[in-house]
Amino acid sequence: MKIGVLALQGDFDAHRRRLDELGTEVVLVKKPEQLDEIEGLVIPGGESGTFLKLLGDTGFEKLKQFVRLKPTFGTCAGAILLASEIENPQQKGLGAIDMRIRRNAYGRQINSSIREGKLLESSLHDKATLPLEMVFIRAPKIERLGANVEVIATEGADPVAVRQGKTMAATFHPELSEDPRVHQAFLRLVRNGKE
Ligand code: GLN
Repeated sequence: MKIGVLALQGDFDAHRRRLDELGTEVVLVKKPEQLDEIEGLVIPGGESGTFLKLLGDTGFEKLKQFVRLKPTFGTCAGAILLASEIENPQQKGLGAIDMRIRRNAYGRQINSSIREGKLLESSLHDKATLPLEMVFIRAPKIERLGANVEVIATEGADPVAVRQGKTMAATFHPELSEDPRVHQAFLRLVRNGKE
């Protein structure tokens, strides 16, 4: 199973290491044509506005096509890119997950924090709900979810990891915790797509 990590900007290397530890073949994706060789893609954290600039219109359209066809997992800025509606400020999204997401939603004091949330029993995690460490860095908040979106993890009352079809998003950074369960859930989504 060959998985790509979008390597234009941000913390792509931590995702590469985690996927590597899980025994996956990983490709750092820097050029649009590399999307043709992979079975799934991780869009890392970083700055979503900068991603849009670096992608340009052509890169954005190519990425949009990929996301429609293949499993994709976005964390933090990656989750913002995958959303259908983005605010604070408004910007365009790939529309793969029917949700409204608010950038930098936690305010200055709690800009970054490590909190304990819950990994729910779901289509991607069949064990009972369990605690999960979550690293938030200038994180967005999901403010509205469409009816077809499944919640994978919560922090307090907030959904913080979700799935719609073959697309998954997390507002935190699972690649920065020791726990591999969120990436395992994504690999399961990729495998499900192959079956
Ligand atoms: N604040 C960033 C944005 O709005 C996301 C932060 C992150 O990816 N850690 O795009």
